[in-house]
Amino acid sequence: GQAQIGVTGLAVMGRNLARNLARHGHTVAVHNRTASRTRELVKEFGDEGAFVPAESAEEFVASLERPRRIVVMVKAGAPTDAVIDEFVPLLEPGDMIMDGGNAHYEDTRRREAALRERGLHFVGCGISGGEEGALHGPSIMPGGSRESYEALGPLLESIAAQVDGEPCCAHIGPDGAGHFVKMVHNGIEYADMQLIAEAYDLLRRVAGYEPARIAEIFRGWNEGRLDSYLIEITAQVLAHTDADTGKPFVDVVLDQAEQKGTGRWTVQSALDLGVPVSGIAEAVFARGLSGHARLREAARALPGPERPELHPDDAARFADQVEQALYASKIVAYAQGWQLIQAGSEEYGWDIDLASVAAIWRGGCIIRARFLNGIRRAFGEGEAPVTLLTDELFADDLRSAQNAWRHVVARATELGVPAPGFSAALAYYDALRAERLPAALIQGQRDFFGAHTYRRVDREGDFHTLWGEDRSERRG
Ligand code: NDP
Repeated sequence: GQAQIGVTGLAVMGRNLARNLARHGHTVAVHNRTASRTRELVKEFGDEGAFVPAESAEEFVASLERPRRIVVMVKAGAPTDAVIDEFVPLLEPGDMIMDGGNAHYEDTRRREAALRERGLHFVGCGISGGEEGALHGPSIMPGGSRESYEALGPLLESIAAQVDGEPCCAHIGPDGAGHFVKMVHNGIEYADMQLIAEAYDLLRRVAGYEPARIAEIFRGWNEGRLDSYLIEITAQVLAHTDADTGKPFVDVVLDQAEQKGTGRWTVQSALDLGVPVSGIAEAVFARGLSGHARLREAARALPGPERPELHPDDAARFADQVEQALYASKIVAYAQGWQLIQAGSEEYGWDIDLASVAAIWRGGCIIRARFLNGIRRAFGEGEAPVTLLTDELFADDLRSAQNAWRHVVARATELGVPAPGFSAALAYYDALRAERLPAALIQGQRDFFGAHTYRRVDREGDFHTLWGEDRSERRG
């Protein structure tokens, strides 16, 4: 065999990854269940580099140098298992199968364990950046063994996005670590998009700005600390006019957000791991709510507040306050995401480098942003902060933003504009810094109806009050 790496599954993602590899000088074997896709790839893009087309799995495997490196880019779920089952009997110990699809990390853990038994390396690899990223440089999050990274890493690093001369690709940790981190990336992406959408809604409905004006405001924000791919594309979407109607594009799109499920996975695993990711959860719920047409229709007649118009000066000031609320809420959403990565890492023994995750998300992926430099610094210097919120520099940002943040949430509430992301982020911030939480009362309630016991602030041990009797206290 002469190909250094093979890609099977040549729909848009696989085709673009194969082209990216070939453009970087690697000889790439290409294979797809339906062979016409393989032929099309070679016909259309064959002059971009060295491709070795294969019609059958046997031919594909035979064309690879050993140990073999096979990238699977097929539909996640059962198709991935079908492809693995097809290839495993054709492989030899030391060979590697990398799944670059959007697999659930539990599936990746299962597959990795099964292939390890047969002496094969299975690498669950998160790839972010969509089809453009796959072609021009994605952010790559490979899991799996150290050994497999030694063999695959240089190839992956060569095709990843580059920021300041560093590739946006690093070994994340064993078995499911890569897909777990990719999942959290998508969860954070949901939260970030929701926060940006709320900022837009407030600028429109409270400040009274038109989409084109809001696009300008976002372009301005993109020059500062909010500089990010998502803010940049938001400005472009808002500036776009519908050709048919001449209306702002955003006004002709049905307001029901869809989802493919990685946000839901993030919240599900956060619930399992006991990590409060309220910003991500609110974002997933907000998309769900938007899609409940019948529910929204039924509730449309419910009363809301009177809406006084803002004075134009106030509108400009309000826009600045929204920027601060957005930035503060974004810090909270990312802090929660990193908390989840940390919890997953501890639960599964992955030993994930938290700074490196920030570093490889600076380019290629959907949440790429200047902001991630700060997160990398926070987790890269000395002892990691317990939460990003208490990192010295982020704490300073929160300190200076908090009044504006409170004002925006208060104003949204007064005027009846839903801001679940901003509100949940602020509630998280206030709950963490509270001297005392009403959780004490909840413990009292639990002890009352279920004798669940409580601990005291002044003595060790578990206690129970005899609520139905003389209300004396017993040690549990
Ligand atoms: P699709 O998810 O649409 O999958 C199509 C590919 O899967 C085709 O090559 C198809 O082969 C193959 N396939 C489906 N079922 C089987 C099967 N049973 N046996 C063998 N092959 C099968 O392709 P995409 O390129 O959109 O995505 C590939 C992967 O990448 C997915 O897991 C997806 O979730 C992920 N993805 C990631 C993105 C990102 O930004 N990271 C963006 C988009 C996708 P055939 O041609 O024969 O039908």
